[in-house]
Amino acid sequence: MSALTRRATGKGAAVAARPFHYRGRALCCDGVSLEELAEEHGTPLYVYSAQQIRYRFGLFQEAFAGREATVCYAVKANSSLAILRLLAEMGAGFDIVSGGELERVRRASGQENKAALGRVVFSGAGKQVWEIDAALKAGILLFNVESEAELGLLAERAEALGVRARFALRVNPDVFAETHPYISTGLGSHKFGVEVGLARAIYRRAARSQWLDAAGVSVHIGSQIRAVAPFAAALARVASLVGELRSDGHEIRTVDAGGGLGIDYNDSPTEPKFDAARKVREYAAALGKASAGLGAARLLVEPGRFVVAQAGGLLTRVLVVKKNGAKTFVIVDAAMNDLIRPALYQAHHEILPVAKGRGASAKVDVVGPICESGDFFAHDRAMAKVKAGELVLVLDAGAYGMSESSNYNTRARAAEVLVDGDEASLIRRRETLKELMAAEIL
Ligand SMILES: *Cc1c(COP(=O)(O)O)cnc(C)c1O
Repeated sequence: MSALTRRATGKGAAVAARPFHYRGRALCCDGVSLEELAEEHGTPLYVYSAQQIRYRFGLFQEAFAGREATVCYAVKANSSLAILRLLAEMGAGFDIVSGGELERVRRASGQENKAALGRVVFSGAGKQVWEIDAALKAGILLFNVESEAELGLLAERAEALGVRARFALRVNPDVFAETHPYISTGLGSHKFGVEVGLARAIYRRAARSQWLDAAGVSVHIGSQIRAVAPFAAALARVASLVGELRSDGHEIRTVDAGGGLGIDYNDSPTEPKFDAARKVREYAAALGKASAGLGAARLLVEPGRFVVAQAGGLLTRVLVVKKNGAKTFVIVDAAMNDLIRPALYQAHHEILPVAKGRGASAKVDVVGPICESGDFFAHDRAMAKVKAGELVLVLDAGAYGMSESSNYNTRARAAEVLVDGDEASLIRRRETLKELMAAEIL
């Protein structure tokens, strides 16, 4: 199957399985040449496909359309305002983990912000008072509470503001899901949630506060989980808890199944085998089965990576090609501060030359200019030969790329472009050095 294979979406529009493809020898994002984008906006540059993001989010909406459900995009995967706006326009809910992300949802959703904020769930193991207050005032859908202490604080703040707080306790189902240890969160030994066996007593004590509304139960077992069975196992555990809680008299209306559905980073970008539509259907079917006994309850799912990862790439220019001993290093102008996933999670990203290679491929290390051996994008990667001045694209960088970027080495963060069909818009300009130092006091 080629990247140009057209897939029908529910709304009749056709979307490529992957947004990045060669047109002749020139790598494009949908209808836009990457060479031209680099010339206009410079590098490093994040490039995203709006069509792909809409398509991926739509897969979740369609897969859960037969039941009462809300798809809450996990903002931390990519929190750029223009991307949040695009999703808000589709009626997305949002999973946030900070007061900053709440503000992003508010701004991105413009006139419709009341409705959008009403579909926000607030997760995270350590919420600050100002963040809780902001979310209470915004009237968010649900607080995912991760400890009894946090529940006490939530009751206190709700009373101070004179509003009732809807909460779901995030339970830890002790389910093992195979992923990188840094993004596995559902084991008894992790910092997240509360032991599922303690939940009933906590709900019982919470019922004493008139300021707390035990609206739901939530679970999130980790990220980049490619099998659907662990999600089903976790949700089944939650479903049996919901039965117990209802028999205790709690009016549980919402079950939050969390996010974490993974993609295939090793898949070929030009001959993709990974079928996103099938994966989401499989996921929805597994959750449907596991929650069959739930009765009336709104199901929340919180996909992040799956929606945006393969919609984005990091465009970067080769600065130098050099040999050290037996090794060839391709040093590019993007670095670990722009995309930290290889350094942080030993992540694999496919890399393509923007001008399709003609020459034989050779094994190279693609690295950034930062003085750390962790500053790499690929080790011993077979790639068509590239020269200084040429462009390469680091693929599948739309999730946890820009949102995990930093100013390490006093490097301005990358600019971002959103492509919609044949049109490209700059959605974030490159930072200036003046801005980098603006908050400092001398
Ligand atoms: C990070 C996170 C998500 C999203 O995870 P993805 O792997 O990007 O889908 C969803 N819910 C919670 C609570 C999270 O912490």
